[in-house]
Amino acid sequence: MSAPTDPLSILHEVFGYPAFRGQQAQIVAHVAGGGDALVLMPTGGGKSLCYQVPAIARHRAGRGVTVVVSPLIALMHDQVSALEELGVHASFLNSTLDSQDASAVERELRAGRLVLLYAAPERILTPRFLAMLDSLHERGLLSLFAIDEAHCVSQWGHDFREEYLGLSVLHERFASVPRIALTATADAHTRADIVERLQLAGAHSYISSFDRPNIRYRIVEKDEPRKQLLRFLHDEHDGDAGIVYCQTRKKVDETAAALVAEGLTALPYHAGLDASVRRSHQDRFLREDGIVMVATIAFGMGIDKPDVRFVAHLDLPKNIEGYYQETGRAGRDGAPADAWMAYGLADVVNQRRMIDESEAGEDFKRLQRGKLDALLALAEAHDCRRVRLLAYFGEHSQPCGNCDNCLQPPATWDATEAARKALSCVYRFQQHGGMSFGAVHLIDVLRGKPTDKVAQHQHDRLSTFGIGADVSEAQWRSVLRQLIALGYLRAEGEFNTLALAESSREVLRGQVQLLLRVPAAAPKRSERSRTARGDKTPPLPLDEAARQRFDALKAWRAEVARAHNLPAFVVFHDATLAQMAREQPGSLDGLAEISGVGAKKLRDYGDDILRVLQG
Ligand code: ADP
Ligand code: ZN
Repeated sequence: MSAPTDPLSILHEVFGYPAFRGQQAQIVAHVAGGGDALVLMPTGGGKSLCYQVPAIARHRAGRGVTVVVSPLIALMHDQVSALEELGVHASFLNSTLDSQDASAVERELRAGRLVLLYAAPERILTPRFLAMLDSLHERGLLSLFAIDEAHCVSQWGHDFREEYLGLSVLHERFASVPRIALTATADAHTRADIVERLQLAGAHSYISSFDRPNIRYRIVEKDEPRKQLLRFLHDEHDGDAGIVYCQTRKKVDETAAALVAEGLTALPYHAGLDASVRRSHQDRFLREDGIVMVATIAFGMGIDKPDVRFVAHLDLPKNIEGYYQETGRAGRDGAPADAWMAYGLADVVNQRRMIDESEAGEDFKRLQRGKLDALLALAEAHDCRRVRLLAYFGEHSQPCGNCDNCLQPPATWDATEAARKALSCVYRFQQHGGMSFGAVHLIDVLRGKPTDKVAQHQHDRLSTFGIGADVSEAQWRSVLRQLIALGYLRAEGEFNTLALAESSREVLRGQVQLLLRVPAAAPKRSERSRTARGDKTPPLPLDEAARQRFDALKAWRAEVARAHNLPAFVVFHDATLAQMAREQPGSLDGLAEISGVGAKKLRDYGDDILRVLQG
């Protein structure tokens, strides 16, 4: 019996999945049929299947190999292992292979046995490799090109790769071979670049919503951020894998150490670490369960670990693009995940300053400021975070019900008067002694606190001393943050002393109204469980007995992963193990019904799993 070539049968048999998601079915049908496609899908949307299923279908129909172009050399080994685990013959060619292994791969390729070949663009563009493709093409064994991370062709984005420009040769040299380009990053500008540079004008575009409905967005005001982080991890993500982003290397090191001191398995990752240390930390993050990676943004490009349950930001990213990309690394498997950020006055000051002090030209700075403002508006928003995020990317949506503001609409207060008091106090400082002061002292004066510094500068004699005693410290911080965010106040010099901006007059004259969210007090335990995802991994709640089976399956999976030198998720996803634990199939036929159990894994692992399930 020859293997089926229709996509749905392949999805069932090879991947063990019951159905295509979103636009996958149309894309797969189009590409398997020889059409060109441009696919825009958010991270976790399921882009890989869009070329893997056509690759298998076309190989089974005798059309030969699919060449996958990817810049992510570090991932190729695992991607290929995952396919081999599914029984799909795949290999990769990149600079990490020695010449002997590379020749072995080339032999498989020439023989037409490979279904998928992953290669870096610089490899593909070598005369030797192109000649090899020529000969395959002549024999009708060059089936499809999949160009992953296609936004790398655009200078507009920050992942630009020179070599991607050379990929137009694929179309010029092999015009009859279909191509599919895929990306998760695509504003209109980048999209146009992809179409033009890769000559995909004739391709069908498939543009998915960029929404990630399983991610819950939450932005809290900083108030002892490390404690806030620990509470978040402890209450909601005990034992989960996740990423904590910090802005500086120093903070990464300190935060990782603090988490380790609290008994968590946390590893640091930043550009200041040795390449070998970075690699080993990344490897452990991918392979072991429940590791918290504390990292600068150097970590992340191409992390395709599906079961990252949270992304936490201890510092404000530069813009919404960065925030969305970083938070997007959570929950690729579609199960509930958290995007949590703590932000405060210092973040606003730092980000503004970095722009002001950069060497860039004025136009560029203006652009950066605009982007920062959009992110600040998101952070200060009292309405649905997701509606704002999607609107930023040009998508219209309704309140989501899965962000902090939807779940617990924040109270607002009119801070117009408070803002005037703050600004006039800054003005008095200058009048009084010609000096400027930082936020802490300003708040002390406004609240009428008799500190040493107040005595030293005789600020208790100012008319503004104590005029804001009725406003809490947290509220004052939020007022100052707003004033800086909106450009009415500037933080200057080494000590971030506050100075009035020209525009502050508008506020002093009462021409500007400020409506702010009431800073939330740290929720009590009982309240917290209401808003937080009550259950931890696994994604769906399990009763006690199922939970034990799930843990046993995970222990079994860890052993297999170690023995085969594979990341655990390549063996089976958490969601697949959870379903096994819940439904407890008693036979191979029953096991085959579980999503994520394809024919080969059933053969390889079925008996073992049934044994583990029987306890
Ligand atoms: P992307 O590359 O778009 O970020 P992936 O291709 O890595 O996403 O897919 C994300 C996850 O979703 C993977 O773990 C994949 O196995 C899973 N997945 C994709 N399509 C389906 C489907 N139709 N049914 C079940 N799981 C799927
Ligand atoms: Zn919402």
